[in-house]
Amino acid sequence: MNEKFIEEAAEHFKALLKEQIERQERMEKAAVKTDFNSIPKLTIGLIDGDGIGPVIMAVAEKLLNELLKDDIASGKAELKKIEGLTIENRLALNKAVPDDVLAEIKKCDVLLKGPTTTPKGGSMESANVCLRRELDLYANVRPVSIPEKGIDWCFFRENTEGEYTLGSRGIELSDKLSMDFKVTTDAGTRRIARAAFDYARANGKTNVSIVTKANIMKKTDGMFSRIAHEVGESYPEITADDYYIDIMCANLVNEDIRSKFQVFLLPNLYGDIITDEAAQIQGGVGTAGSANIGDRYAMFEAIHGSAPRKVERGEGAYANPESILKAAEMLLRHVGKADKAERLEKAIALCKKEGRVVMTGHADGATAAEFGEYILEKL
Ligand code: NAD
Repeated sequence: MNEKFIEEAAEHFKALLKEQIERQERMEKAAVKTDFNSIPKLTIGLIDGDGIGPVIMAVAEKLLNELLKDDIASGKAELKKIEGLTIENRLALNKAVPDDVLAEIKKCDVLLKGPTTTPKGGSMESANVCLRRELDLYANVRPVSIPEKGIDWCFFRENTEGEYTLGSRGIELSDKLSMDFKVTTDAGTRRIARAAFDYARANGKTNVSIVTKANIMKKTDGMFSRIAHEVGESYPEITADDYYIDIMCANLVNEDIRSKFQVFLLPNLYGDIITDEAAQIQGGVGTAGSANIGDRYAMFEAIHGSAPRKVERGEGAYANPESILKAAEMLLRHVGKADKAERLEKAIALCKKEGRVVMTGHADGATAAEFGEYILEKL
């Protein structure tokens, strides 16, 4: 029994290794970046997602329609609804992203996506992991800002490797033993490191914190740290420091030192976890947006999930849309519409300051739709 299992697992591992070597080789080839200034018509795909997704996306759609109304009227931009990325449809077809949905997605230039539910266990891959791979969205960028506390952080999480790329393809010996795989590549690390250092340079930042667990994950995180430093050598005006993820989680809640951190560069899993912590420090996961950026495509989302328990409690309508609006702001900046992003940013800030309509995330506060109307009024 064990011998057969070892043989099958070895074959499985061989196939994974071959696939990952090919992926690394593909990444080494020069990528072509989308130039948004030369696109005759910008197509923004809108994907509702599950749970509270349709609630917060309805607010985002309304505000984007208003902000882009001139571009839409003149045919320079289109908001395209993409149906079918629901948990019901994905389960029925047993596909993380159904083929026809993926084909529609690939016709867009950028995407705004509501959260999608991922079933626990089983073999169905997360829709996000699938989209990040299919669209090669290698940089997960998550800004967190609390000006009154001197906090201005930007997290660059590697988005296509680490524990995630093969997360649904581990091996199991009956119920006795399980093994997953973690992958780091030279090309994959180099491109996320360049994205972080480029951001630091473009935004006058002087330091990048490289956060791993290279003392334990010696091969994968060791490689990530080494290559990140190598890339950093081309940016002599920016210092690079090494931290382990455990102490960095503590540092973010240490009020004596946390405001000194500027840009964070992390492998996938650590970046996923620490950015929820950072969002909570900012005011909750309902307040943070997230960008998934590749050379050809980019996808913008709320940092949080589909909040199924909130929906079950009948509180879905009270979900805070600020997170997806932050994502919409990032989308507008990414496609060269910084003026429109600023209008949205200012309107949200004004609403929060004035406080005539207040979101609490619960039935004692406003609904997402009411907050959306309030922002629309202030645009
Ligand atoms: P969650 O982020 O959905 O919820 C965590 C907590 O935050 C809950 O208490 C929820 O009520 C609250 N919350 C989330 N968004 C909120 C908002 N806009 N306003 C107010 N409160 C909000 O996390 P979870 O329960 O761990 O995950 C639920 C599902 O979402 C899972 O299937 C998970 O895989 C999926 N998920 C998807 C994404 C994505 O699509 N990008 C990200 C994370 C989790």
